[in-house]
Amino acid sequence: MVGSNKTCPQQIAADAMASRSRQGMNAVGEVLLRRVVETATDAIVVIDEDQRIVLFNSAAERMFGRSRQSAEGTSIVELLPQRFRHGHSDRVRRFGEDRQQPRMMSPERLVVGLRGNGEEFPIEASISASEVHGRRFYAAILRDVTERERNRAALMQSNLDLQQFAFAASHDMRSPLRSVSGYLGLLESRHAGALAPAAREMITRCIAAVGQLDRLTEELLSFARISADPIEPVEVDCNSALAESLRLLEHSVLETGATIEASELPSIRVDRHQLVRLFQNLLDNGIKYSRGRRPQIKVGASRRNAEWVLSVADNGIGIDKQFHQRIFETFKRLHTQQEFPGTGMGLAMCRRIADRLGGTIWVESEPGQGSTFFFTIPDPHDPDPTTP
Ligand code: ADP
Repeated sequence: MVGSNKTCPQQIAADAMASRSRQGMNAVGEVLLRRVVETATDAIVVIDEDQRIVLFNSAAERMFGRSRQSAEGTSIVELLPQRFRHGHSDRVRRFGEDRQQPRMMSPERLVVGLRGNGEEFPIEASISASEVHGRRFYAAILRDVTERERNRAALMQSNLDLQQFAFAASHDMRSPLRSVSGYLGLLESRHAGALAPAAREMITRCIAAVGQLDRLTEELLSFARISADPIEPVEVDCNSALAESLRLLEHSVLETGATIEASELPSIRVDRHQLVRLFQNLLDNGIKYSRGRRPQIKVGASRRNAEWVLSVADNGIGIDKQFHQRIFETFKRLHTQQEFPGTGMGLAMCRRIADRLGGTIWVESEPGQGSTFFFTIPDPHDPDPTTP
């Protein structure tokens, strides 16, 4: 009570009630805490300064296949396979000394656990240190990620198989395709005169279809290659990567009279080959989807948190909002071969590259208003103040 130290009988009674209520609340809190620990689906293991287990909840019993009685009092390293035990105690101690912040769970930092029956399994763990009555304790929350890791490995294997299949199929299909195309050419050049006009027309159509099939297999092969090639990040001057992609498009730039302007672009640690391919596909589309107008393309870069956002803007036909996602899927096209030739693989390849470089890609566009494609490249370093 402010301004009064006197204790009257009512005050004593009120204090006693408050104290009982606090004790009651503490008791409730304790029971609640114990229940939370016991019903948690993640394993909770607390160790003391000597790294002996002092708390081992029910989920930990299930996860490690050990009873609480057999686990409590033993060293934490008993939960690890032999080959990981050496040095583990030092790491825990260093963690307690160095870190103020708890270490979070992360799929990149898995720990290997050891069950009572000798089976090893992957664990995702978070650990925090705390002091109670001058003694240090470490609490670990552990999650068995066996199922997730198994699925991840299966998915990676199936992706690899699919990639190899696409690679082999597209590679092996090209040689019979070439011979079909060769024989059709011979038929046309040597025997067309002896054929009825309808038969000649059929040959012409066959040649066009085989040509399209050849382009598709070539794109499929590039797609498989771009997906399988190892990513080799080096310091890349984006201006020179852009210049290289323009050299590869020299023919269509000259043919259409396209102008390509670029602001000063940054240097980024990235796989050069994949970046060149990304620029090349986007510029190629910017030039192609211009319909009648002289293509004008602007390339720019801006900084956004820990990444660069690069953009390729054109003055072409634009894209309706409803197709902004779909155009990045394989073989998705919005036009016939007669309107604009293509395979529908260019943007799928761009998306695959952006994914592999750790970024994203999207488009902002409206029909008739041109399109701007954006892609991001992670770059955790502070930008050089001399670059844009
Ligand atoms: P392709 O150009 O071979 O058809 P892409 O995967 O590169 O395949 O593009 C998919 C579709 O997205 C194209 O068919 C086209 O309709 C649309 N598109 C891509 N780039 C542009 C662009 N710059 N302007 C307008 N439409 C575009």
